[in-house]
Amino acid sequence: MSSSVALRLPSIDGLLRHPACAPLAERYGRDSLLTGLRQLLDELRPGVLSGQLAAVEIGAEVLAGRVGERLAQQQRSQVRRVFNLTGTVLHTNLGRALLPEEAIEAVQMAARYPLNLEFDLASGKRGDRDDLIEGLIRELTGAEAVTVVNNNAAAVLLTLNSLGARKEGIISRGELIEIGGAFRIPDIMARAGVRLHEVGTTNRTHARDYQAAISPRSGLIMRVHASNYSIEGFTARVPTAELAQLAHAHGLPLLEDLGSGSLLDLTRWGLPAEPTVRQALLDGADIVTFSGDKLLGGPQAGLIVGRRELIAKIKKNPLKRALRVDKLTLAALEAVLGLYRDPDRLAKRLPSLRLLTRPQADIHAQAVRLQPLLTDVLGEVWQVSAVEVLGMIGSGSQPVARLPSAALCCRPQVSKRWRGRYLLNLEAALRGLPIPVLGRIGDDALWLDLRQLDDEPAWLAQLAQFQVDR
Ligand SMILES: *Cc1c(COP(=O)(O)O)cnc(C)c1O
Repeated sequence: MSSSVALRLPSIDGLLRHPACAPLAERYGRDSLLTGLRQLLDELRPGVLSGQLAAVEIGAEVLAGRVGERLAQQQRSQVRRVFNLTGTVLHTNLGRALLPEEAIEAVQMAARYPLNLEFDLASGKRGDRDDLIEGLIRELTGAEAVTVVNNNAAAVLLTLNSLGARKEGIISRGELIEIGGAFRIPDIMARAGVRLHEVGTTNRTHARDYQAAISPRSGLIMRVHASNYSIEGFTARVPTAELAQLAHAHGLPLLEDLGSGSLLDLTRWGLPAEPTVRQALLDGADIVTFSGDKLLGGPQAGLIVGRRELIAKIKKNPLKRALRVDKLTLAALEAVLGLYRDPDRLAKRLPSLRLLTRPQADIHAQAVRLQPLLTDVLGEVWQVSAVEVLGMIGSGSQPVARLPSAALCCRPQVSKRWRGRYLLNLEAALRGLPIPVLGRIGDDALWLDLRQLDDEPAWLAQLAQFQVDR
């Protein structure tokens, strides 16, 4: 449809005065609208000049519509809620632990009002933010003293730097781990200024290996929870109590990085055993570090607990100031820790524990209930079934343990050649929903593990809008 009459783009002023644009100015502000219109016109200009665009494509209404879509898109938050149906409960990429209501309320309070973050209300003098939670953590772990930083990686870095800089840190070769790609013990040690002295072998390290490594250059002995891998078969590891004795006999501190670190014995809820912070301290570890948002079920934070004089040294390190936690985190952490005072009700009140302990029969019943609904929505091409599966705790807690769960398993009924494409399209369509639904692809199917499908009404409501590209 070429025409010999040269097309002209509408003027910015004309567009701004156009009735179709008025509501946009009202909603997004005049400046945003102006920027949006300028960008759009700039993009269209070459097409107009070359005659590739038709008059209908640059009418005021059409342009207003396109700018409106863009502004709406821009206004939508980039931080978005999703449904985690991956089968991994404490999913690092999906924000790990969900906070209990008590913590959410505490965060709101801390966000809305001034608070006694570093102000001692008893004396009216300057306070220390660690003091707000020290009593609670001491009670729950038996530690003498406590300090809290931004995450456990920071806790390890700060502890190593405070206690071992310019000296040697002795550690088993079986514990030189990498977590999540960027956290590698040898690298953290180097950045902390501690010289790595590795001992033993990958699968077996004995007390005599540590003993032989101890010299006047030694600054500390470190032990790290294997977290995301397991060593099985012909293995040997020195018990913490024995290692602590050895360290203390030579005047060295023993650091134990527990990673997840649980405050209570999880076997009480039928979960795999994780070392508790209290036990590590009882065994003689001088400093124990662990995460706030793994098994603890709280906000992202790194907790450093242990001997008073060592904690005092750590708190004096200028790095502490760079790694400290903010008020929102502290407020949430205190509320979460408070729930631990009543272990009997913890599994009801702490979302991560509630989800981790959800019975398989319960999840399976939900899958059976939702199976016909999803079948309807996906149409004939997909065979949807309710099946029992095995999920994971995640975040380096019990890497080989599996949680008996149930899932909706979606299999495309097409020839093998097309299956991959169907699966990717379904995955993308689920990700494109207003609240993206994240599952996992494997074994020629897409799996939606329902352990974490709490908000079933919201999930169902948006299925109505569902469309898959074929
Ligand atoms: C997860 C983990 C860390 C890092 O903790 P973050 O809270 O993610 O920073 C460090 N050490 C071990 C053993 C871990 O499992």
